[in-house]
Amino acid sequence: MTAAERKSLEQAVGHIYHTESLGAVDGPGLRYVFFLQGCPLRCLYCHNPDAQDAPAAHDGAAMTAGAAAKQAIALKSFLQGVTFSGGEPLCQPNFVRAVTLLLAEAALPAAIDTAGAPTLGDDAKAAIDAAALLLLDIKAADTAIAKRLTGQGNESALATLSYCEATSKPVWLRHVLLPGWTLERAQLEALGRLILPYKCIERVELLPFHKLGEHKWGALGRPYTLQKTPAVTQEELTWARGILESVGATGDR
Ligand code: SF4
Repeated sequence: MTAAERKSLEQAVGHIYHTESLGAVDGPGLRYVFFLQGCPLRCLYCHNPDAQDAPAAHDGAAMTAGAAAKQAIALKSFLQGVTFSGGEPLCQPNFVRAVTLLLAEAALPAAIDTAGAPTLGDDAKAAIDAAALLLLDIKAADTAIAKRLTGQGNESALATLSYCEATSKPVWLRHVLLPGWTLERAQLEALGRLILPYKCIERVELLPFHKLGEHKWGALGRPYTLQKTPAVTQEELTWARGILESVGATGDR
């Protein structure tokens, strides 16, 4: 990388909602996690609804890629990598790519935790190309259910998955189990059949619905519609895994 290229990368600006120094649930090992401001989806169960608004409508802190990379590199000896989460990090692909390339120089691999690039243009593709791993959330195998659940169908997630397949980008596929929505045999079988052909998927993570973000909805004055939805039990999680296994589509592959 030339000095001019490095300077250009360092100056890219991103809008950060929150950072976590030693995240343990967003990719391999302990990770520095940047939660980016802004998301086009409106998931009923979102636990960061205050991260949904686009940066212009919210005071998510602006930060240069150079400063962001420096923060993470300062903790390098504790970290296996860095994860961009959100919000939707691929709403800010140039920032994600710039930080990722700066981190790569320090041998810190980056993962992108995404529900699919909202626009899979050259910028988003370049960000994905730079990352070591995608944590890709497919909200529902049935696009009509995805639309009711998140406000949008699953087309962006599937297009992103196809791009990862075409470029051999490793993917950890994530799927939230929501009682009455996705915690259903037919839905899980459909998900299993959908993801089975993709060789880029290294792992499938089923995430049980929880209500940890419920209070944030109240604080924002927004109605939370899942108050009566029960949390997912360990037995249900095991049952759901069994259904994916029955179609050959779960676990480390
Ligand atoms: S994709 Fe994530 S950040 Fe966006 S609305 Fe859904 S849960 Fe919230």
